[in-house]
Amino acid sequence: LSGGVPVPEKPQELTDLGTSINRLLFQLHLQIEREKGFVSDASHELRTPLAALRGHINLIKRRGKAHPEILEQSLTAIDQESERMQNLIHQLLAMARSEHYELELVDVNMSELVRDVLRTYWKEDRNITLELNIDKDIHLNGDVGQLSQILIILVENAQKYTESGGKVIVELTKNNKEVHLTVKDTGIGIPKEHLDKIFHRFYRVHKDRSRQTGGSGLGLSIAKQLVAFNGGDISVKSEVGKGSEFKVIFKK
Ligand code: ADP
Repeated sequence: LSGGVPVPEKPQELTDLGTSINRLLFQLHLQIEREKGFVSDASHELRTPLAALRGHINLIKRRGKAHPEILEQSLTAIDQESERMQNLIHQLLAMARSEHYELELVDVNMSELVRDVLRTYWKEDRNITLELNIDKDIHLNGDVGQLSQILIILVENAQKYTESGGKVIVELTKNNKEVHLTVKDTGIGIPKEHLDKIFHRFYRVHKDRSRQTGGSGLGLSIAKQLVAFNGGDISVKSEVGKGSEFKVIFKK
């Protein structure tokens, strides 16, 4: 070539470099699209209860004095909607924190952790039976706060999506180099076509029930992320009308 343009000595390497750069750019593009999607989903989720709050406040202003029953209903709705917003903001903050959180890996006695969490977070008022099947002295290298959070999310869901009179079974077992944590319920179940999406942010199958119980649609996406941080995997099996089973497998 004339004009002093250097001829690449190893064109193959340049082609490979080009491919890698393209791949990186594509991943970056996907990441940006995901974040854009997240911001617009989160704004939508916050706007909905906010619009409901404003609607009820307006109603109280216009008709509350003359109609005590409207006042009463609107106050109840304001109470529920503001609780929903509070839960959502709490979950969003937990998510943001977990992205910059430094894992504190220690030896955790999972058998004790599971019992402690259930003692604190199991709701007695729902008339659901809790069955525990916990092997003794199961240890895991993990982050105590995150491991607790995973169990809280799964158990709260099991209670939320199970009718009164049903049952929730929590199992902790060890198998060679794996620790299995299972939360089963005899609840309403999840149709097959939704199973692969319930771990996505804001994805809800039972929208009304999730709303009534103050759900944010973020629980399972957070649980999946925390499970991954602690070297595990989460999966679900479910049958409509029979119940669901969430299984977390930690590799020791
Ligand atoms: P939410 O705050 O709405 O409960 P999650 O991310 O925890 O959000 O769960 C996503 C959706 O998966 C829920 O809205 C619900 O439809 C479904 N789901 C989660 N756990 C169960 C369960 N144990 N039984 C039936 N459906 C469930």
